[in-house]
Amino acid sequence: MYDIIIAGAGLYGAVIAYEAKKKGLKCLVVEKRDHTGGNIYCKKMNGINVHYYGAHIFHTSNEKVWKYVNQFVQFNHYVNSPIANYKGELYNLPFNMNTFYQLWKVKAPKEAKQKIEEQRQVFKEHEPANLEEMALSLVGKDIYFKLIKGYTEKQWGKPATEIPAFIIKRLPLRFTFDNNYFNDPYQGIPIGGYNTLIDELLKDTEVRLNTDFLKEKENYISQSKKVIYTGEIDRYFDYCFGRLEYRSLEFDHQLMKGCSNYQGNAVINYTEKEVPYTRILEHKHFEFGQQADTVVTKEYSVDYKEKTDPYYPINDQKNNELYTRYDELAKSHPKLHFGGRLGSYKYYNMDQVIESALNDSTTLLNNLQ
Ligand code: UDP
Repeated sequence: MYDIIIAGAGLYGAVIAYEAKKKGLKCLVVEKRDHTGGNIYCKKMNGINVHYYGAHIFHTSNEKVWKYVNQFVQFNHYVNSPIANYKGELYNLPFNMNTFYQLWKVKAPKEAKQKIEEQRQVFKEHEPANLEEMALSLVGKDIYFKLIKGYTEKQWGKPATEIPAFIIKRLPLRFTFDNNYFNDPYQGIPIGGYNTLIDELLKDTEVRLNTDFLKEKENYISQSKKVIYTGEIDRYFDYCFGRLEYRSLEFDHQLMKGCSNYQGNAVINYTEKEVPYTRILEHKHFEFGQQADTVVTKEYSVDYKEKTDPYYPINDQKNNELYTRYDELAKSHPKLHFGGRLGSYKYYNMDQVIESALNDSTTLLNNLQ
């Protein structure tokens, strides 16, 4: 008999497992893949930590979360400053004075603001109702058409008019020469890679890899006082109310022997629709690597199908309403708890995952002691 069984060895599950261990609880983690870490897992290729399921840059404003992760691993001073390539022209991201200079040759914040003001679409009748309207009202048409529309439509596989407005608010807009993609005061990549963080969290916890929880769900439930499920909530309930939508990704990882520096930056976004991938990652730059070789990854956004992994929840109204029905159903199973990006169906960043795991663990685990 276990106190707690956790389905999924990603960040959420690993934090809960660590908190359970701290309280002396008997915990089992069951993981479908052949490794722990969920999507923050890194694969070592020629000495380079390859972000195997896409770029993960840790950033947070939450001091508690920052202190928490720093117990397990130190962070380097990587600052995410992606570049956008639009039809062969390069622009700094996020939208800042460097970008405005590259677009319009304006040098002063006042000139940049004026330029955006001329181009902004003002919505007087209603609040911007979708990503296109929100972007046009915030940054105007040049930035929207060159740096947002193509990328967004590739990433989400639908017109920007059908994408929730909140997503574009993830990107800062600032009138200083500052290419830092995030506004958060704490940022970096774990020294030694993300696996170090996960290994520390899961140290001394029983983990079963290559094991699909759902195939023996009733068995696990009968063996434990509490069950945490971090996979897709609709899948857990056999899609009884219908399927939630997700967006999936495919990665083309390429080891380039003898090439020490392919693109000079960790992340380059390709913002025009015609280029089939959304971005190219060069992993060594996350850790200032000096290896003789490099590994680059082309990231493709694809439809979510049965055989692909779900990466992004589609938090539009329709899906959020459907999620609420699953959430209500989950509440009628007191032994069960759902968490993480997939279990909560939320576009969480890593720090939000940790924050929610810490909050949840207080109530979940106290009752088990
Ligand atoms: N985005 C964009 N152009 C870019 C990068 C991002 O228009 O070059 C928009 C796009 O709509 C995307 C959103 O900003 O879905 C959020 O981007 P973020 O980098 O946060 O996405 P993630 O890293 O989570 O994939």
